[in-house]
Amino acid sequence: MVNLKLLYDEETIQKRIQEMAEEIDRDYEGKSILAICVLRGAIYFAVDLTKKMKNTSIEIDFVRVSSYSGIETTGKIDLTLDVSEDLKDRDVLIIEDIIDTGYTLSFLKKHILEKNPRTLKVAVLADKEERRRVPVDVDYVGFKIPSKYIVGYGFDYNNTCRNLNYIGTLEN
Ligand code: 5GP
Repeated sequence: MVNLKLLYDEETIQKRIQEMAEEIDRDYEGKSILAICVLRGAIYFAVDLTKKMKNTSIEIDFVRVSSYSGIETTGKIDLTLDVSEDLKDRDVLIIEDIIDTGYTLSFLKKHILEKNPRTLKVAVLADKEERRRVPVDVDYVGFKIPSKYIVGYGFDYNNTCRNLNYIGTLEN
């Protein structure tokens, strides 16, 4: 059994995502965004965030990266699914679940920038700032969290528990 300690309940998560959606809506002011959801962890966040954005027209695309084996980072990133849309001259928003060491987002930003978008911004639900190994600019952050492994609401424990509606920290 997975032993989790509650970090953010459903109401807290949804309230924070609502605030983020309003901020992003204001920043893009009626523009059209190409949102890139990073599979698999960001699916729940990307769905809720984009549903709460009311003033921005949104297209959704997906990338998939794998960087983790078990709960330890390797620093080695594999792109296992690339975007299908042409990103040239588009306003692109990467929607990612978490930034930890920064390897994944640093890799992804570089990869997306090579496709010549007009603008590129990043929204993450959680940020483990203390664990950063490479600097990465992130534009929208849901929660700054401690250096603990989190599970639920998209965050997996060996690919399970993503469907929990709350986020907990993994306890021994
Ligand atoms: P980074 O490359 O920044 O070290 O890690 C980013 C990826 O590591 C995330 O997309 C996520 O898949 C995974 N990750 C980092 N921290 C956690 C965590 O606390 N829980 C889960 N489930 N995944 C994490």
